[in-house]
Amino acid sequence: MPELPEVETVRIQLLNKIVGKKITGVEVFHSKSVRNDESFEEKLVGKRVADIDRVGKLMIFSFAEDSDLFLLAHLKMTGQFFFVGEGEISGGGHSATENDWTDLPNKHTRVAIYLEGNATLYFNDMRIFGYLHLVNKEEKEKAKGKFGPEPIADDFNAEWFYKSLKRKKTPIKAALLNQNFIAGLGNIYVDEALYRAGVRPMRRADKVTKKEAAAIVAASGAVMTESIAVGGTTFQNFVDVEGKRGNFVQFLQVFGKQGQPCPRCGTEIEKIRCAGRGTHYCPQCQI
Ligand SMILES: [Zn+2]
Repeated sequence: MPELPEVETVRIQLLNKIVGKKITGVEVFHSKSVRNDESFEEKLVGKRVADIDRVGKLMIFSFAEDSDLFLLAHLKMTGQFFFVGEGEISGGGHSATENDWTDLPNKHTRVAIYLEGNATLYFNDMRIFGYLHLVNKEEKEKAKGKFGPEPIADDFNAEWFYKSLKRKKTPIKAALLNQNFIAGLGNIYVDEALYRAGVRPMRRADKVTKKEAAAIVAASGAVMTESIAVGGTTFQNFVDVEGKRGNFVQFLQVFGKQGQPCPRCGTEIEKIRCAGRGTHYCPQCQI
């Protein structure tokens, strides 16, 4: 599943490829992928992509000719965007094999958006949990409102975070994974941030001290920023729009390292289940 750094990487690269381009045609191969919107094509053709915004893992396309039309795009488990231009094929999101972007459109292509300049944006989604959903401004704001602040945003500060944790009796890991509370921190990044902050994933959120809360805020922001800088992780064969693989996997210190020595103290990294997810931590460094 693409996590926030992967989605952000795809967003930035699509920005460079399609902003300013006019949509000349649309083909929907699977109606569920556009939320069964029969006027999907009609609404999009002739529109020029003005911007691509993002909140959490939700990408939001806006259009120059229509201030009341937005395209919400979510990759979910297996979604991918592939941009095919003059002499270039590039892709981003979840990817199973390289065939996904060398033979487009293919059996996993759900939507094709044709752009001026002989370019096409393909939306592939093997399991069809992802979507391209056209909404108006009010619906867009409603969708944005469901997300909490991001670990890389200014409104994610230690004081707000500490106070909010006081009302939560779940493990700190579960709190961090809740997208309504904090947007975009996925499983890998939560484990890494809690390791850096020295806090055990199963610690009750309301028992986290002020100092630890500040450490978690700092670590979450750092982990996300560093990961975005290198294009995310290579888990699930993530490939960005330039076809480059994410590099953050080489910086992981606990995720997937069970049985290996902690880089800080040498104690064996343990793997347990917490918040329903495979969870990695150092029993010595994290209290
Ligand atoms: Zn350790």
